[in-house]
Amino acid sequence: MKTGVLPESDSCFGCGACEQICSAKAIRMCPDSDGFQLPIINISHCTSCYLCLGVCPAITQNMDSILNQPIRVYAARNKDPEMLMQSTSGALFPIIANEILAKGGVVYGCAWAGSDITATHIRVQHERDLHRLSHSKYVQSINNETYISVKSDLNRQLSVLYSGTPCQIAGLRLFLKKEYPGLLTIDLLCHGVPGSKMFSAYIDWLAKQEHVPIDDLRFRDKKVSGFRAYVSFRRPDGSRRFRLAGLEPYMYGFYREYFNRESCYSCPFKQSHRSGDITIADYWGLELHHPELKEWLRYGASLCLINTNKGMDWEATLGKCAELVGSRIEYASEKNPALNTPPELFHRPELRDRIYRELNEHGFEWIAARYLRPRFAWLHYLVPAYARNLLRTFRR
Ligand SMILES: Cc1cc2nc3c(=O)[nH]c(=O)nc-3n(C[C@H](O)[C@H](O)[C@H](O)COP(=O)(O)OP(=O)(O)OC[C@H]3O[C@@H](n4cnc5c(N)ncnc54)[C@H](O)[C@@H]3O)c2cc1C
Ligand code: SF4
Ligand code: SF4
Repeated sequence: MKTGVLPESDSCFGCGACEQICSAKAIRMCPDSDGFQLPIINISHCTSCYLCLGVCPAITQNMDSILNQPIRVYAARNKDPEMLMQSTSGALFPIIANEILAKGGVVYGCAWAGSDITATHIRVQHERDLHRLSHSKYVQSINNETYISVKSDLNRQLSVLYSGTPCQIAGLRLFLKKEYPGLLTIDLLCHGVPGSKMFSAYIDWLAKQEHVPIDDLRFRDKKVSGFRAYVSFRRPDGSRRFRLAGLEPYMYGFYREYFNRESCYSCPFKQSHRSGDITIADYWGLELHHPELKEWLRYGASLCLINTNKGMDWEATLGKCAELVGSRIEYASEKNPALNTPPELFHRPELRDRIYRELNEHGFEWIAARYLRPRFAWLHYLVPAYARNLLRTFRR
């Protein structure tokens, strides 16, 4: 195969479909100097079959065939307070995941793995392991050959739920090449993913600050004061340590998109046509168009888009386990750029390159002190998280 056949590294999503379709094992996903997974081709093993081109979402001409316009738009939240507390937003994911497992199916999603807590896609077969997929891990998840595993499960007639970022779902659908009745996909709204290098540097910095190894990290733990307020992790003695999310340098950089993968700055999935059968997200701006639901913001409110007929088969189950209130795509996209950013509004922060350069030269502590500190840190101590979230929504 000629080099340069796969897309430029700037547009590659790192989904890993090319690596997994290659029977000659000529492609390997490896981290680049900033920790983002990219395909490396071993030319001497390549047989020029070009299968990799057919599955690549970054160069497909078939994007329209894998994106669907939402059929239903809901504001939603799980009726079970326990599940609501254990999830990032309105806990819709565990409703569907539990049901698939109860039917003898399998669920794929992102979990922490290994002692260095790496975000990795895993296969879950038992309810007792489902908690590993809960919570948003704000770093790119390594695919871990899960597309191959999904295909094998589907060929064995198992029901499969696969959840991930929109580009991961697009990669899966192109990899599978055809529709399987047993497959249900859930894509998240996604404004961007940091790479593993930035995340590991943060974890090392945090461990040094706290004088303990970091385990079971949660970026948005609701236990102390509800939706979005605290980052937490488990200490070696089993207790949890909570830190104000608004003061965490990693969260500061993540929300300002300083750490994103290059392809996220020109992402074709930041629109209302979706790659998953069902889309789940935070319902930002809920209080503007559904003031009667303002109270939901305390423990998490989801946006739920049902995009295909297969997704519609789950509407009744969702309606049984969650409160569903009909909404509109214009309302939902007003405050959520991941649902509506046309190419002319793509924005790449000027600081991004400097931050990565200085991370490589000086380390995380250096960039945290210079670029990742909120201007009004004292506000985080004086104003409750719930009130801050409301203020933030009005400012957007
Ligand atoms: C990197 C990232 C960016 C996001 N950006 C936005 C955004 O801009 N706007 C918005 O409204 N919502 C965004 N979300 C989604 C939001 O944070 C919640 O994950 C979503 O609302 C689901 O919440 P839940 O309570 O239903 O499920 P939870 O119980 O919290 O389930 C988490 C689900 O997310 C999946 N997941 C977790 N981490 C990752 C990961 N790194 N890669 C792939 N899948 C993962 C799990 O497999 C599981 O399906 C983002 C999520 C991630 C991971
Ligand atoms: S298939 Fe995925 S990982 Fe491979 S080049 Fe395309 S976008 Fe990148
Ligand atoms: S922003 Fe787009 S390209 Fe980046 S991870 Fe999310 S879906 Fe993929």
